[in-house]
Amino acid sequence: MPTPIITDGSMDSVKEAPKVVLPSGLTALFRLRADRFLALSRKDQGSMGPYLALMADLCQAQSHWADKQSPVAVDSVALEHSRLHGMPPMADLVFNRPSGWQADLRGLVSHVLEKGSVNDAVRASLNHLQQCTEQSDHGSTKVESLADAVLAGVDLAAEDARLVPFIGAALQLHFARLAASLSAEDLRISDTPGVCPCCGSRPTASIIHMDPQRLNSRYLVCSVCLTEWNMERVKCTNCYKEGGVAYLLIDDSPTASQSAAIRAETCDDCKSYLKIFVEEKDPMLDVIADDLSSLALDLLVHERGYARTGPNLLLYPGDQ
Ligand SMILES: [Zn+2]
Ligand SMILES: [Zn+2]
Repeated sequence: MPTPIITDGSMDSVKEAPKVVLPSGLTALFRLRADRFLALSRKDQGSMGPYLALMADLCQAQSHWADKQSPVAVDSVALEHSRLHGMPPMADLVFNRPSGWQADLRGLVSHVLEKGSVNDAVRASLNHLQQCTEQSDHGSTKVESLADAVLAGVDLAAEDARLVPFIGAALQLHFARLAASLSAEDLRISDTPGVCPCCGSRPTASIIHMDPQRLNSRYLVCSVCLTEWNMERVKCTNCYKEGGVAYLLIDDSPTASQSAAIRAETCDDCKSYLKIFVEEKDPMLDVIADDLSSLALDLLVHERGYARTGPNLLLYPGDQ
């Protein structure tokens, strides 16, 4: 059960944390993410700096394009199914996408080509992608297959792999805009709490918030539509068992453990993990950006035999 929170100082008024929080204020949400990527790129001591800076440009493009299209309406039958049976109302739309999301992709790519710093190989791939999306009013079938591969986590050849974060960002923008057009009352948490109640996708990570309405409650963050949903902290986010959950950190000394904002939550029952972010330890953190800047933790957890259960659609799956 969500932690009951007293919000107004009165013992008589106890509020429950909301079960689902849909994305809102997308222009600001993506701009803050861009700022965080930029800050992380400047702090980076290794080789990730240029990549994180490029992701800052891409999130800036998401912010710029957030209000450039109107969301298509979610089917009323899907909404009714969601209310009655806990089916994610956008699940079908993710896999049978209207081609309108390719207009978002074109917008993001134009913005990055114009304002971002991309190397020659990425620029050539993006120019090719632009040509593909312009070939037909109904969208490019090649781009749709790339999107299917990105959503399914299928490995792509190097030339196409470069496009993954751009396709991921366009899908994210498109489905976050659609999710933002719904109301939390439209959704019911399904019997499968490890998938998004709005679009049925896996979460990128979870976060423990510090805002009063959600204080100390843990929320999973959808990798595709950015909806957040509440889940008890004691349970594994993959198999829902309680006994095998533990935390792994890059620096597990007692002092560092106390102040760590990013941990890997591992489960010995299903040998899986997902990162968990603690906002109180770092109020500036952003699940998508900080996840990508902490890939060293993923390596450590992989070495210990745990498999990650949710993607980050802005992850570039290869060498820059
Ligand atoms: Zn979702
Ligand atoms: Zn588990």
